[in-house]
Amino acid sequence: MSDILIIGGGFAGVWSALAAARVCDQHGAALAITLVTPGDDLVIRPRLYEADPAAQRVPLERILQPTGVSRLAGIATAVDTEHRSVSVTRADGRIERLGYRRLILASGSALRRPALPGGEHLFDVDTLAHAVALDSHLRALSARPEKSGRFTAVVVGAGFTGLEVATELVGRLRALAGPAAHEVRVVLVERADTLGPELGPGPHAVINEAVKELGIEVLLNSGVASLDATGVRLIDGTEISAHTAVWTAGMTASPLTRQIPGRRDQLERLHVDRHLRVPESPEVFAAGDTAAAMADATHPTVQSCQYAIPLGRYAGHNAAADLLGRPPLAFEPAPYVTCLDLGAAGAVLTTGWERSVKLTGSTAKDLKRTIVEKRIYPPLNNLTALLDAGDPERPWT
Ligand SMILES: Cc1cc2nc3c(=O)[nH]c(=O)nc-3n(C[C@H](O)[C@H](O)[C@H](O)COP(=O)(O)OP(=O)(O)OC[C@H]3O[C@@H](n4cnc5c(N)ncnc54)[C@H](O)[C@@H]3O)c2cc1C
Repeated sequence: MSDILIIGGGFAGVWSALAAARVCDQHGAALAITLVTPGDDLVIRPRLYEADPAAQRVPLERILQPTGVSRLAGIATAVDTEHRSVSVTRADGRIERLGYRRLILASGSALRRPALPGGEHLFDVDTLAHAVALDSHLRALSARPEKSGRFTAVVVGAGFTGLEVATELVGRLRALAGPAAHEVRVVLVERADTLGPELGPGPHAVINEAVKELGIEVLLNSGVASLDATGVRLIDGTEISAHTAVWTAGMTASPLTRQIPGRRDQLERLHVDRHLRVPESPEVFAAGDTAAAMADATHPTVQSCQYAIPLGRYAGHNAAADLLGRPPLAFEPAPYVTCLDLGAAGAVLTTGWERSVKLTGSTAKDLKRTIVEKRIYPPLNNLTALLDAGDPERPWT
């Protein structure tokens, strides 16, 4: 039996564990905190579109071990809120049933892949394994016959991830193509009539300019009908010789949210109250991409690290405070910002929900590098720094 059982070793799960450990440390309490996750690493998911995705991870032991949080390697397959237990399948196939007093659901989200003819040829950058598969594929392209579409990549979806993938792929493919760099062609296919539809009009001009500067071909009001290993067919019948197609459109919360009694939003996220508790299942807290929390009076949180980290901190804090009879903290994240990488064309930083452009070009790029290379990493091996990182009221951006 765990006092606090956390499902998921991503941003929300890790920071939940740190926050719960911090509350125990503050009050001299010894709660049993367990984190269940299949892998040994915290995967730095926002960096999986970069070259060398295999390096984008941090060993969980260096975060959890100093704080006394136990880790169980396995996949949670069933949650029984009535009996307060979770079934976990271990790597060797054994199934364990773990009891809990408080549960934090932090199992993240996953890309919705389409059921298209040839859909098995689509790559994505949603998980470490898939990003590594794309990287290995790209590295092998130069061995293929010249001018066959070997260095043409079709990126499907021009949302936040699609734009980062497409703009970065230009440089990655050119570097891999070497003397055949003139063969590189990146085509961005978007169903809507504009790039970055969910980003609103604020950063549009900057995004359009960057895409033009990088020579990315844009096909709006379009979509993929089918594909095979060397070509993509669009819904209007256009055929593109392309040895690489990357799917980036559509995210949905972990299917475990459906096992918790509670209301869910259109992304399958659980609605939580301001203490991040699921009202219909009071022993359950949700954090990160599984939670539909209110970021302010009118805006729900966006699936992002920028919210996953503070959501984790508040959920972990409140779960531990609840067990120790301490008052909970109401979720109060920092103001909303967006920093979109645009490859060799720089980046764009916006602030507020209207996404007003504040920085562009190399200045925004420097900030993006600082965020993804430093700020979203937890401290390692240092107990004091780790416990401080779990403080919900401490700024992290
Ligand atoms: C390519 C890309 C670029 C991105 N760029 C940005 C960006 O620039 N800025 C930004 O803020 N966000 C960005 N994001 C989004 C961001 O990565 C996610 O919102 C964030 O990772 C969510 O954190 P999380 O902890 O909720 O989920 P995750 O980081 O997905 O972690 C979920 C964890 O739960 C584990 N898990 C899942 N199911 C189970 C189960 N059944 N049992 C046990 N464990 C389970 C997983 O293995 C994983 O460890 C990007 C995402 C991608 C894919």
